[in-house]
Amino acid sequence: MTEQVPFDPEQSVAELVPAVAVTPMMGQFLEIKAANPGYLLFYRMGDFYEMFFEDAEIASQALGIVLTKRGKHQGQDIPMCGVPIHAAQDYLKKLIALGHRVAICEQVEDPAEAKKRGGKSPVRRDVVRLVTRGTLTEDDLLPARGSNFLAALAMVRHGEAAFALAWADISTGETMVIDLAAAEVADELARIDPAELLFTELTREMLAEAHIRLPDAAHVKLPTEAFDSELAAALIRSSFGGEAVDPTAFSRGQRAALGALLGYAFESQKGKPLALRPPTAGDSAAHMAIDAATRGSLELLQTQRGTRQGSLLAEIDQTVTPAGARLLAQRLAAPLCDAAEINRRLDDVEALAGDAVLGMKLRGALKAVPDLTRALTRLALDRGGPRDLRAIAAAIAGATELGVLLGNLAYAPDGLAALGKVLSAAPKNLAAALDAAIDEEPPLSAKEGGFVRQGFDQRLDGERRLASETRAVVAALQARLIAETDVRSLKIRHNGVLGYFVEVPAAQGTKLLEEPLKQTFIHRQTMANAMRFTTAELAELEGRIARAHEAGLEIEAKVFAQMVNAVIAETEALRQTADALAELDVTAGLGHLAAARQFCRPRVDNSLAFEIEAGRHPVVETMVAAERESFVTNDADLSGGPEGGSIWLVTGPNMGGKSTFLRQNALIAILAQTGSFVPASSAHIGIVDRVFSRVGASDDIGGGRSTFMVEMVETAAILNRATQRSLVILDEIGRGTATFDGLSIAWATVEALHNDTRCRALFATHFHELTSLAKTLRRLSNHTMKVREWEGEVVFLHEVATGTADRSYGIQVAKLAGLPERVLGRARQVLDILEQRSAAGQGSSGRTAGVLDDLPLFAHQMPPKQASVNPLHDMLDAVRPDELTPREAIELVYELKKARDAARRS
Ligand code: ADP
Ligand code: MG
Repeated sequence: MTEQVPFDPEQSVAELVPAVAVTPMMGQFLEIKAANPGYLLFYRMGDFYEMFFEDAEIASQALGIVLTKRGKHQGQDIPMCGVPIHAAQDYLKKLIALGHRVAICEQVEDPAEAKKRGGKSPVRRDVVRLVTRGTLTEDDLLPARGSNFLAALAMVRHGEAAFALAWADISTGETMVIDLAAAEVADELARIDPAELLFTELTREMLAEAHIRLPDAAHVKLPTEAFDSELAAALIRSSFGGEAVDPTAFSRGQRAALGALLGYAFESQKGKPLALRPPTAGDSAAHMAIDAATRGSLELLQTQRGTRQGSLLAEIDQTVTPAGARLLAQRLAAPLCDAAEINRRLDDVEALAGDAVLGMKLRGALKAVPDLTRALTRLALDRGGPRDLRAIAAAIAGATELGVLLGNLAYAPDGLAALGKVLSAAPKNLAAALDAAIDEEPPLSAKEGGFVRQGFDQRLDGERRLASETRAVVAALQARLIAETDVRSLKIRHNGVLGYFVEVPAAQGTKLLEEPLKQTFIHRQTMANAMRFTTAELAELEGRIARAHEAGLEIEAKVFAQMVNAVIAETEALRQTADALAELDVTAGLGHLAAARQFCRPRVDNSLAFEIEAGRHPVVETMVAAERESFVTNDADLSGGPEGGSIWLVTGPNMGGKSTFLRQNALIAILAQTGSFVPASSAHIGIVDRVFSRVGASDDIGGGRSTFMVEMVETAAILNRATQRSLVILDEIGRGTATFDGLSIAWATVEALHNDTRCRALFATHFHELTSLAKTLRRLSNHTMKVREWEGEVVFLHEVATGTADRSYGIQVAKLAGLPERVLGRARQVLDILEQRSAAGQGSSGRTAGVLDDLPLFAHQMPPKQASVNPLHDMLDAVRPDELTPREAIELVYELKKARDAARRS
């Protein structure tokens, strides 16, 4: 298709007058395609959605489906590919996941109507829906346990650039908006993690200039007009159902962002009303600021590899409903900064953590509650079915039951008491009405009927009886016709083309074509081995059945509409119920977690304390437990006085547990301010306003920045933005450059954190030189990961002790990693010489090159791999602990001791 065609004057004429040059259908296609730029067009033809031209090429590639052709356009074959309607959802899912946007174009009139207009005019078609990553409402396209946000970033150009961000989950109706300074944009976007992000080219340029990177969402550039705050006002006023929202309640930037968001969202639904909730205006200071790099390094919602498995969220998520899972993820992404609010959440968690029986009952009841919000949205968007009605009835019933359970709580903290009240107030009348009308297990779609309960509508029951009675009459007729014709195998059958018909084997058919039967039987069709007929009586019966069926369908459609309206009328109450259900699920889940994992309630206040006893890293703990080892707990005390927080400088060998220790403390702070219990035996945390966590030497090839540049950009961000209330975790920064550069930068950074920022900080480093800073910096102390040396190998104790590491054990770690003995031996030689020279005052690592010039080249004379065989190792290697009986285990211990004694003696 993209092949270059030589210039042809006739062709350019054809391009100017497409109506002349193309078939009517192609003309219609091109017109619709032109009206929806940037979208793949799913063009409905019969039972397929067809794609043409470039769309076809893109889709066939992306979906792995065959590219064919259909007719010609301007002398060229038209590439085409198609997906069957019944499987369209799966293909859509793939395309959306790849970041494509799809316009669904349906036939919007009866083909008969088109025929009336003249033989050649195509059936009228129109785009009924734009499917994009941020505007999904269908359950099977959405992540069940995650939010799906569409976000719009507006820039206010008045002197200094300021921003506003609006975001909404179209599937749940949640809508939020916030003003942002340029420096906050990246953090907020990282927190919200939108599926699709709208902005203008100018905004993108400004952000690029300020080195602000946009998140990994589907990006959509909109024209500047889309962000017009004047036009937005009307849109804001009219967009939130019956509720009047005053546009002047929002800043100009917020209006612009909301305007772009609403415009795009409405366009995507092509006229269907959106079920959005009035926007909540956020305040970025209300929650702990966690920038994108920190989220990545702490693996809060997903791991660095992009999986949920292995993240903090996956580790702590004990929710049992999709809405609860979504709320927990949102809370973990935005821990609070208000101690009172945090403690209210903790009160609730504590009440449930302490009452296992109630917790179990609550979680059991919650498990049965369907996704109320999303069902509600689908019904409001006219995309719902009878099952959504059932879901709403079930959710109300569940809420009522949960309200009763909470009512039984002997002592209910304010939060739980309030939840109990909201849940008890769920609209029970609506549930009763829905339950009375809709079958227990209805079909997915309302179109085919068959979902209204027997006994709900007398007329419907009448029509149904008629239809079924008539079926009995058909059976009777068949028996009579068999008797009359004496053809045993005569059958009355039904198909979509002929309707009801009489079928007999071909051999008997002639009989019916002759007198006297010819009078009754009218021939319809001759098949290879059967003949089909109809009779006047059968045709009459068929009419009756069809009429009854039609009438029934009409009544069911009315009942459905009536029930949907009843649901919509209760929207506000249902949303409150849904919110309360999600919140209870989160609280019950955290209570369960606290009890199951021995988490403790943190003391959270406005001090500058940071005192953790026996802290654990929840994810690493699970990992080591899988290896049947136990996690070594560690204390931390970074509490500050009036002059500032304390800094712990942590040294120790690679694999000693430094990174784990650093991160666990950041995670404990985040969990505490989320309102969760924490993995420790006690914790006292003064509100942390920002957490920074950086790991040195992590390349960002995709971002086109070198290791060292990444480190420095991120370190700069910390030094510029951390406050005295912040918690800073720096893990081996200064690695990505020459030793002296790195050491110097690390040195200066520690000093700046201590003297200027004065925050609480943990600093792990491989530069042992830094430990001498403890002499001059009063609030800095040295800590090290304990190791034990045993027969030339290191054993990591994972225990943090005061003091400094005497050595870095690099060679021992290399040995563990399986470096060849020859190389290890040579490394030991080099190290010995370096250490001797350095001790003799000949300078350290910086002048190594000169020192090593004299190093004798005896690598090739190395003795062959020394076989320091330790029989204990072989014995241990042979052991399979899981297969030992207790008796065998104790015998093994004796044997090991014996072997050790033997080794000592030799
Ligand atoms: P470092 O940063 O010092 O190189 P890590 O923190 O990456 O070390 O830890 C290395 C490994 O040691 C971890 O993957 C984990 O298996 C284990 N480990 C670390 N801390 C502990 C601990 N407290 N208890 C048990 N195992 C630990
Ligand atoms: Mg490390």
